[in-house]
Amino acid sequence: MAVSRDETVRRVGSMTAALRDEGLRLTHQRLEVVREIAATDEHPDVESVYRGVRARVPTISLDTVYRTLATLVARGLVVRVATTEGAARYDAATSPHHHYVCTRCGSMRDVVDAALDAVDVPDGVRALGSVETVEVRMRGVCAACAEKGVLP
Ligand SMILES: [Zn+2]
Ligand SMILES: [Zn+2]
Repeated sequence: MAVSRDETVRRVGSMTAALRDEGLRLTHQRLEVVREIAATDEHPDVESVYRGVRARVPTISLDTVYRTLATLVARGLVVRVATTEGAARYDAATSPHHHYVCTRCGSMRDVVDAALDAVDVPDGVRALGSVETVEVRMRGVCAACAEKGVLP
């Protein structure tokens, strides 16, 4: 499911404002990084963002991608999602939601579900501290991989 055009435009607007706030010049390269991450819900890693931008801006450096994403993460406009499988993934959907991760192809899909949001946190966890949000991560073999019979 692609990100709607309206939502992409909204995200690009807040992201470019944040970069300006940080005193960063809105270069063509930074703008393309913003466009790339704002328009996707595929939770790309840094390398994937880099590859996507490089197709349009061959002079982009991995460092520029990394620093631009880091600034957006620091400003809360992109969420860095750590994974056990490999590189961290970047998510421009900042409202709380859950993820389904395929253990074969690594695809990460958003799951929005009120029942998961309202999951009953055990008392033992409450003893550790306050709980502001709960992120549930489901892992398994996605339908596309299962259909292709992809082996682990
Ligand atoms: Zn898969
Ligand atoms: Zn997500």
